[in-house]
Parts: sequence; C-alpha cells; structure tokens
Amino acid sequence: MSAGRFAPSPSGDLHVGNLRTALLAWLCARSSGRDLLMRIDDLDRVRPGAEQRQLDDLAALGLDWDGPVVRQSQRARYHDAALASLGGRGLLYECFCTRREIQEAPSAPHAPPGAYPGTCRDLTAAERDERRRERPAALRLRADVTEFTVEDVLHGTVTGVVDDVVLRRGDGVVAYNLATVVDDAQQGVDQVVRGDDLLSSAPRQAHLATVLGVAPPTYVHVPLALNPAGARLAKRDGPVTRAELAERGVDVLAMIADSLGLSGATPAEMLRGFDVTRIPREPWVVRPAGT
Ligand code: GLU
Repeated sequence: MSAGRFAPSPSGDLHVGNLRTALLAWLCARSSGRDLLMRIDDLDRVRPGAEQRQLDDLAALGLDWDGPVVRQSQRARYHDAALASLGGRGLLYECFCTRREIQEAPSAPHAPPGAYPGTCRDLTAAERDERRRERPAALRLRADVTEFTVEDVLHGTVTGVVDDVVLRRGDGVVAYNLATVVDDAQQGVDQVVRGDDLLSSAPRQAHLATVLGVAPPTYVHVPLALNPAGARLAKRDGPVTRAELAERGVDVLAMIADSLGLSGATPAEMLRGFDVTRIPREPWVVRPAGT
C-alpha cells in the first residue's frame, strides 16, 4: 500500500493555514493514487474536544480519508518495539541533561551548531547510576552521522543536521521524531505533506527511518500561512478558523483554493490537472477577513 497522511496535533482548532496544508495533503495523495490516512498526533499538547472539531472542519471542507482515524497514544506497542530494537543494537543511551545544561555546554568539536553536544554519550555505568538518582533519563539515539540528505518535491535536495535526537523524553513520553517515523513506516506512509516549519526535522527523521530499515517517504514541505506582520499565523490573529470565518460569510475552501491558484468548487474538482510544483512557493499572507 502507498499512502499519504495528515497528522494534526489536537492542541486547538485548525486555522486556515493548517486547513490549506490538509487540502494539499489530500490533493497530493489523491492525485498520485494514494490512500490518505488521518492520524492524530496526541502524545503531547491535547486539548479536550479539539480532535473532533478538527475532523469536523476537515470533513466540512470536503476532505475524506481512508480507514479509521488513528491516534498515536494507542500505538505504544509500535513505539516500544522500535525502542527495544534500537536498544538491542546498542543505539540508545540515557541522557540526564536539562535543556539549560545543553545550552550551556560547549559544543563538540565537529558538531553542527545547535546539535546535542554528546555530554551523556559515553557516561560510565557508575556515572549513569549516580545521575539516575537526580532525575529520570531521556533516551537518545546514538547517531552515526552528523548530517543527512533528503529529497523534497518543492525544496529539492536538502541536507540537514542529524544529532543524537531524543527518542523518549525523561517523563517517559515517546518523542515526536520517533513516533512520527515509526507510525509513518508501520502505516505504509510513503508521502509526507506538511508545513515547511518541519523541513529541518526531515533529515533527522529520514535518518532514523533508515536506521530502522525503512525507506524515507517522499517529502513535500509546503509554505506556511503568515499574518500581515510576517509571523506564523495563530488563533489570536483574528478570524482564522473555519467556524470563525464561516460566521463572517467567508467560504474557507474558496479562500484556500484562491491562495493556491486552484479552480474548482470541491476538492475533487481541484484534482483536475493538480500539480503541487505549481503552487505559490512563498508563504501565504492571510489578511483579516473583509480587508
Ligand atoms: N503533528 C505535527 C503538527 O501538527 C505534524 C507532524 C508531521 O506532519 O510530521 O505539527
């Protein structure tokens, strides 16, 4: 099976920028004969009721998906199996660093800026015992490379930093990078369409997929929506959710289609001749409704 997916975090309502990304994920999947899977990334930042409102908003735009809605919180067995396999291969280590300690640590000689400096990589068993008394350990990947290259349909060849990424946090929650890679692989996702704020995560995720023995997906990182001041669009920027805009008489699907240069009154009609490489490459500046 080959599939694309939309994977919202149920932390609040989707705004028009998120809905635009969802439409693009749908169009990319459907135009390439793929299934579209709906996965709720609910390991973190869950707001009660948000998931249902997100799904209702997507359905109201005319987007559909294949199979049941999947929640990451119900997939611990896959995440744990991946951790066990990596651990068995000696590719995990315990890390006791706080965010502050990482910021203040001198960077390793050949490490790219911002990369984890490797403080806990080679602790002795005695040092680990000592530090376990202070706080619970996070688990990091013992990465064998410092960069990795991915292909993105809109961005071309992208080489980015790979460091010893956290795979399970100190509080026991599986980290986003592990859950995303494991779930995409296990679900047969071979096309990832998402906001280009996540482009810098793609090399790490593709590297992790490779370490887990899976081919990285085709990536399509699409432009974000910005407010008129140039900041990432947010709920506080005014009427930006489907419900808020609909209340003001705005046809959200038409607004999004217009921003993408697509014609058609339904997502299905927009499929005709759809070519993601022809969407505008610059961020979408969303002006308050009516201006
Ligand atoms: N759940 C993530 C978000 O809403 C997206 C994850 C992904 O597409 O890889 O930002």
